[in-house]
Amino acid sequence: MASKKEAALAATPSDSPTIFDMIISKEIPSTVVYEDDKVLAFRDITPQGPVHILLIPKVRDGLTGLCKAEERHIDILGRLLYTAKLVAKQEGLDEGFRIVINDGPQGCQSVYHLHVHLIGGRQMNWPPG
Ligand code: C5P
Repeated sequence: MASKKEAALAATPSDSPTIFDMIISKEIPSTVVYEDDKVLAFRDITPQGPVHILLIPKVRDGLTGLCKAEERHIDILGRLLYTAKLVAKQEGLDEGFRIVINDGPQGCQSVYHLHVHLIGGRQMNWPPG
């Protein structure tokens, strides 16, 4: 199986639909932990900690990655982070957690639909790999 880095380098930044569209439409199953009209949060299939949740905007609106953010995205970007805090509380991550947004090939992004990783339940380290 390709490593995370190989998968990220093989991924092509584009506006094409991604696997996350099928997760939003429920064509492929996921374990949803939070949902409202703007944000979907579900468990990552390759968890990097006891808790690993992805938070995504339900409408991508050009946000393939953070590098594409424009002023009109400020509300959804704030909402994603605020929702991450709510979900962290819901998951009992009272000792802390990590938020990650991978961007582009060097950032190890493999899915081009902006997403926030919420990872917790274990001691983190620094620097990240
Ligand atoms: O930041 P990056 O683009 O690499 O993150 C994509 C994430 O989407 C990965 O952590 C991967 O495990 C997750 N994923 C998922 N369910 C899928 C496809 C990918 O949780 N069906």
